[in-house]
Amino acid sequence: MKKSRKRRGLLAFLSILCVMLMALCIFLAVMCFDLRMNDSRKDVVIKDLRQTHAKQQDEISALQEKVDALQKVIDDQNAAAAEAEAKAGGEDVAGALHEGEGTIPKPQGEDSLLQSELQAAGLVLGEAPENADAYFTINEIVPGDGIFERINGKSYRENPNVALSDLRYLTVLHYNFDGLVQTGEIIVNAAIAEDTVGVFKDLFANHYQIYSMYLVDNYWTGDGDSSDTASIEVNNTSAFNYREITGGGKLSNHAYGRAIDINPQQNPYVTFSDGMPIYSHENAAPYIDRTSGDPHVIVEGDICYNIFTAHGFSWGGHWDNPVDYQHFEK
Ligand SMILES: [Zn+2]
Repeated sequence: MKKSRKRRGLLAFLSILCVMLMALCIFLAVMCFDLRMNDSRKDVVIKDLRQTHAKQQDEISALQEKVDALQKVIDDQNAAAAEAEAKAGGEDVAGALHEGEGTIPKPQGEDSLLQSELQAAGLVLGEAPENADAYFTINEIVPGDGIFERINGKSYRENPNVALSDLRYLTVLHYNFDGLVQTGEIIVNAAIAEDTVGVFKDLFANHYQIYSMYLVDNYWTGDGDSSDTASIEVNNTSAFNYREITGGGKLSNHAYGRAIDINPQQNPYVTFSDGMPIYSHENAAPYIDRTSGDPHVIVEGDICYNIFTAHGFSWGGHWDNPVDYQHFEK
């Protein structure tokens, strides 16, 4: 009896032990399954991360390409801006002229030297700028400004006939004898300033070549007449100069800023005596004959003549004796 109770107790104990072992087994199995699941989940996460990383690398490459493309655009724009700035040098010159800074250099020496000097100074633009109209300006001259300082005591001096306020300083563009676009300057009477700008705009539009256009003061030798001679010697086109007419006696129309001399070498001032031409500039010799067909030789009906007369100017080439082929006045 005692033995059978003992066995029953043992059986119960073994049963409980079995249940506990089974529970342990189940727990371990669950743990094991869970770990394995975690592992595979980790694999998935790692795979996802790798994919995301690869995707991000692609995106970075694409962005880098975009950055490179944008940088190229910026570089191109910078290059274009630098080029535009270089071109705008001409505008600066026009601006400087406008402000009367007196930046026009004094041309001297050989033609080639003159051209290269002008090139260096930015006065020879080469090609026509897009905003060509902006280079044609009309400016008052005020005592003390840069232009006044250049002309005072030279082409302009106080006088009872022409006041400083009667004059205008113009900037223009013209083609030079090399076919390059170049800036020019000229002083005329306020009454003909608009017409004069109209003339030079039309000449420019027609690619008419003018050797150079600087104030006669750039060639000043001490008095109006000899300075005019010096300016003609270098074939300079100019207008205002407070001086008497050639030969003396009364004021020239140049003294009023109402006359303009164009390419004086090719278009000389000639007096005839017994049918023989008399002229003071040796460099004019090849141009006494007006029938050469040289495009710089002004003849009735050519571009230069037509433009000046269309703007109401009369031509010295129509005078009897002397004949002044370079001279237009209004
Ligand atoms: Zn003249």
